[in-house]
Amino acid sequence: MSKFDSSSVVIPSSLLDRFLRYVKIDTGSDPDSSSFPSTQKQKDLSKLLVEELKSLGVSNAYMDDYGYVYASIEPSTTKSVPPIGFIAHVDTSPDMNGTGVNPQVHKNYDGSDIKLSDDYTLTVKSCPELKTAIGQTVITSDGSTLLGADDKSGVAEIMTLVEILQSNPQIEHGPIKIAFTVDEEVGNGVKYFDIEKFGAKFAYTVDGGGKIGSIEDETFSADSMHIVFNGKNVHPGYSKGTMINSMKVASTFISSLPKRLSPEHTEKKQGFIHPINMKSGVDSTEIDLILRSFKDQDLGKYASLVKRLAQRACSKFPGSSYTATVSTSYRNMKQILDKYPKVINYALDAVKMSGYTSCLESIRGGTDGCQLSYRGLPTANMFAGSNLFHSRFEWATLEVMEAACKVLLNLAIRWTQD
Ligand SMILES: [Zn+2]
Repeated sequence: MSKFDSSSVVIPSSLLDRFLRYVKIDTGSDPDSSSFPSTQKQKDLSKLLVEELKSLGVSNAYMDDYGYVYASIEPSTTKSVPPIGFIAHVDTSPDMNGTGVNPQVHKNYDGSDIKLSDDYTLTVKSCPELKTAIGQTVITSDGSTLLGADDKSGVAEIMTLVEILQSNPQIEHGPIKIAFTVDEEVGNGVKYFDIEKFGAKFAYTVDGGGKIGSIEDETFSADSMHIVFNGKNVHPGYSKGTMINSMKVASTFISSLPKRLSPEHTEKKQGFIHPINMKSGVDSTEIDLILRSFKDQDLGKYASLVKRLAQRACSKFPGSSYTATVSTSYRNMKQILDKYPKVINYALDAVKMSGYTSCLESIRGGTDGCQLSYRGLPTANMFAGSNLFHSRFEWATLEVMEAACKVLLNLAIRWTQD
């Protein structure tokens, strides 16, 4: 087979149609639900994707009971190439209304503020990145909902990749595995994800931001802590010398947490200790905290510090006591990805092959790729196109989505050039 020139591939105009079709389907997930997926409506998009995959000739596409979509494209090469996976999530954030999304397409954007509605305007001042979109096709909501480019841009890009591969059999690629997940926005994106059924050896989530060429290979490592302060409740009219109010112990503890280790005072590679929830009474007060750092060893130090401060608070209230439990949430995926350098190196190559400049970035949070990486499927995160996600001001551009399609295509090709 002659070497295929991927630069000759034109990204089909179906990309925009697809994206607009998907964002109109309400797929908001719900953190308060006890079912899985957290909302049944997410399956509306999953079902549509199965139908569309089938009409693109991917007859093995199916949705399982959880709402996950799995599909697989046969290799077009006789070379031995590991199966590569592409993953995006169908749900949108519960932080903003996702019902009745009415996408607005602003062609040939002129660089000025974008009026979404009488009440809301997306201003260049609040989002200077808009300047990078001058001349492009900018897509927003009408201000009453989020747009849902997080992660329907990723979904549309993967579907368009499938269309390109299916209609260009001359493109050399190995086995390609496709998955669409549910409930990512409520932290359960891969809870029931079946890595074995998926069948990929390495994977990419297509769920990054709107910067062309950005690849995320690093996340926080994360633990959570639960602390219980025990006081002593006595009738307040007759409590002199006997009552110990656990809320006062707890507030002494909270106010002793160092400012320099709080989310409000940290950025970039700095970690933090963050109380997120408190349930209080005189007798006992429970506090949940999250610990975050890019370095695992910091988490142990943070936990010891929290215990020391809890002990110190108790010492100011004789008779009070505390218990603390630490649990692991997730670990920095870089520790896994570093063992499989091709995953990142080929992604960097694919950006270059597409004619763009790449950059490696770290996320001050976790991704589904973290959990997948630690469960045996090394997974990095690729830019997808959403800006100001989880808000009514969310926007994306068609050009960045097209760039993402090109990069995904070149990534599939790059794995055959081992
Ligand atoms: Zn996302």
